[in-house]
Amino acid sequence: MGRYVGPVCRKCRREGMKLFLKGARCYMAKCPIDQGHPPPGMHGLRRSRKVSEYGQQLREKQRLRRQYGMQEGQFHRVFEEALRRDGITGEIMLQLIETRLDNIVYRLGFASSRRAARQFVLHGHIAVNGRKATVPSMQVKVGHVIEVRDRPKSRDYATKSVDAATSQQTPTWLSLDPKAFRGEMLSIPTREQIAPVVNEQAIVELYSR
Ligand code: SF4
Repeated sequence: MGRYVGPVCRKCRREGMKLFLKGARCYMAKCPIDQGHPPPGMHGLRRSRKVSEYGQQLREKQRLRRQYGMQEGQFHRVFEEALRRDGITGEIMLQLIETRLDNIVYRLGFASSRRAARQFVLHGHIAVNGRKATVPSMQVKVGHVIEVRDRPKSRDYATKSVDAATSQQTPTWLSLDPKAFRGEMLSIPTREQIAPVVNEQAIVELYSR
């Protein structure tokens, strides 16, 4: 299945909440969710029917998947990997998603949205431990150093985002040196640090059916 190229805000409207998919625009008054736009489709304004347990689990999965801009196949593979590891499957799944390279580039503020971060990685602007990294799904490990490559094009692109990011807070499991365009992963994030707006247990139950 190909990548979704339709209107991005539609995904937020479907989930009925802000997923912050458009960077700075998400903080402006014209965000359709802030303006109270209904769910998409010709029946979007209809009173919602009673949703089955399966329907609720599916919604939770779609919400998390869309937030991180992942395709179904990728997302399912992450779940299977979490299942193989020791520990709480739901939490491990969240950690695996959160420590993807594209998400960390976004969290460090080198790009304004996860979508932009994915593009930024794909176009070769990022280095991990001094080596160019172009795979957005790469798993970053504790101690890895992530930096914007020392090229005018790469640094120019990241400057605006980094300025905005330093005014927000960098997650405590990451460190950021904004002047050097460099960050490091200090620890594996806990569930509380990730603070997802989903019930990950519902996703585990969905895939365990
Ligand atoms: Fe979602 Fe951002 Fe669009 Fe608002 S502006 S609906 S948060 S993508």
